[in-house]
Amino acid sequence: MSDADRYEPSHGSRGFHVEHYDLDLTYRVSANRLSGTATLQVTMLEDAKEITLDLVGLAVDKLSVAGARLVKYRHRDGRLVVRLSEKLAAGAECTVTVRYSGNPGPVASAWGPVGWEELDEGALVASQPVGAPSWFPCNDRPGDKATYRTSLTVDSPYFVLAHGTLVDRRVRAATTTWVYAETHPTCTYLATVQIGHYSEIVLAGGPVPQRLVVGGKHASSATRWLERQPEMMTLFTELFGPYPFDAYTLVVTDDDLEIPLEAQGVSIFGSNHLDEADAVRLVPHELAHQWFGNSLSVASWQHIWLNEGFACYAEWLWSEASGGPTADALARRFWTRLHKLDQDLVLADPGPDDLFDDRIYKRGALTLHTLRTAMGDSAFFDLVRDWVARNRHGVVTTEAFRSLAAEHAVTAGGTKLAVRVASILLAWLDDEHLPQLPGR
Ligand SMILES: [Zn+2]
Repeated sequence: MSDADRYEPSHGSRGFHVEHYDLDLTYRVSANRLSGTATLQVTMLEDAKEITLDLVGLAVDKLSVAGARLVKYRHRDGRLVVRLSEKLAAGAECTVTVRYSGNPGPVASAWGPVGWEELDEGALVASQPVGAPSWFPCNDRPGDKATYRTSLTVDSPYFVLAHGTLVDRRVRAATTTWVYAETHPTCTYLATVQIGHYSEIVLAGGPVPQRLVVGGKHASSATRWLERQPEMMTLFTELFGPYPFDAYTLVVTDDDLEIPLEAQGVSIFGSNHLDEADAVRLVPHELAHQWFGNSLSVASWQHIWLNEGFACYAEWLWSEASGGPTADALARRFWTRLHKLDQDLVLADPGPDDLFDDRIYKRGALTLHTLRTAMGDSAFFDLVRDWVARNRHGVVTTEAFRSLAAEHAVTAGGTKLAVRVASILLAWLDDEHLPQLPGR
């Protein structure tokens, strides 16, 4: 088993790439019934006679393939194996069309239930890391990014948000069809649908349009809660470079949610977060994921610190810029907390069980803070902006970050700084032992 496979056992496939998902779906809210057709444009990455997709808890009603001859398919244990009459060569393309239906529900995973979730009045999708197959057949691994067209027909009173841009809305007698186009490469876990009795509130018209999607009951408290959202967008655009998508939407659901979640161009909060003192720090955290996680996506979950370390450090950067404790004060506070915990986690390879361990978030942020202290603000933020620009809408690994950091260190301070940066990254990323913070 390769390193990457250790993080994705019996999930996703490296043998092919899905270029585009066309989802044409109908959802009956009262019955929690989803039905429709998914059309996948597939490109083979290796010679193979089989294409194995992920689809959990829903039944395949019909399956066809264009561009190759289908022999049969088998759907068992969440794996949909499509067998072809002969091998397709690497580079060959075909189209797989799956008609399916059922009562969608979250996928049980080692990290708790994830995916499609019924709400009191509507539904939401929160898939990280393995929930996408709860609502569409897919190649469910973060490194396989695709474009999407999502058409969803629901009872007319409901508002539907999906990732991408609303390109069409057709109202019939009792139902409305909402069509969203996502033209940016998107990980399956970041594909989302939010259904509820929502309306839209504009938080900022530009330069990056920002809006809130919320039920009437929470509209004014959520608007107040997100008062500083446009300022955060301005700060992060300065620090990280241009916002990677066309717009940013924050959803506040009527239901309580355990944790907020990011999707492509979207963040989802529960109404309970409006009252939790600690939750407001997650507004900049979720926004930062649009750069770190959504535009720059991990090639495999092994590299998750590149998402969570940056998002956590963004909380500290916002605190520092908005009159709260400085990043350095926060770094010292969280270093002291980490120091009291077990030191048995390697950031660059935490293992699948510890993917969402809070130590990854905090130690990731501390790594970046140490790097910033060593390089100086100007060189550090140049590195961050270059990292974001070079990998825009791509996939990233820890090794790629390490080599870009080395390159910037040489430019900023010659071999001496490069050696220092390499040893910082070695100590923070590859060793279990918690290094001292600079200045101690
Ligand atoms: Zn996060």
